[in-house]
Amino acid sequence: MARYTGAACRQCRREGKKLFLKGERCYSDKCAVTRRATVPGQHGNSRKKVSEYGLQLRAKQTAKHYYGVLESQFAKYYEMAMSKEGVTGENLLRILESRLDNVVYRLGFALSRKEARQLVTHGHYTVNGKKVNIPSYLCKAGDVIAISNKSKDSDKIKAIVEANSARPVPAWLDLDRNQLSARIVQLPNREEIDLDVAEHLIVELYSK
Ligand code: SF4
Repeated sequence: MARYTGAACRQCRREGKKLFLKGERCYSDKCAVTRRATVPGQHGNSRKKVSEYGLQLRAKQTAKHYYGVLESQFAKYYEMAMSKEGVTGENLLRILESRLDNVVYRLGFALSRKEARQLVTHGHYTVNGKKVNIPSYLCKAGDVIAISNKSKDSDKIKAIVEANSARPVPAWLDLDRNQLSARIVQLPNREEIDLDVAEHLIVELYSK
């Protein structure tokens, strides 16, 4: 599976905001955005006024990097979002939030979405009792996501869960910390998605 392998912190600095791509470091004062909030590159601090297209592009790139999705897959999600009832931009974010790697990350079962992708691929989680190893699997309301019985005993998984124990879990996920499983109460509303992006700009970009 193709994946962006460049410097994660550079992506955050490019977008001028934390995209939480590196796990624990993102919550510490070692975060590159906290330490050096400049756009990378020689002319990082001397950028001219951004065009309308530039704003739309940055909004799309922000969402794409935040969820760790490549261009072609992002475009497919946009098509899906358009075909659904409701506001396309919100539909798009809801689809991205429903990816299994994102749900695993939101639950604190992985330190970052990147790690969640890897752990999902290695078969550490179940959906409704069945092992699912596809990070892009789209979860639905009512689905039960859990750490597999075998992986519950893994020292690595235990350490991850412990390290994430203070990170808040969104209200659309009903987490049982003892069972290390959670039910998706409903897919999130826009207010429940903490991504700082103007999704209407993404819609404008794709509508050209
Ligand atoms: Fe982004 Fe995390 Fe790096 Fe901070 S530490 S710049 S949030 S990837």
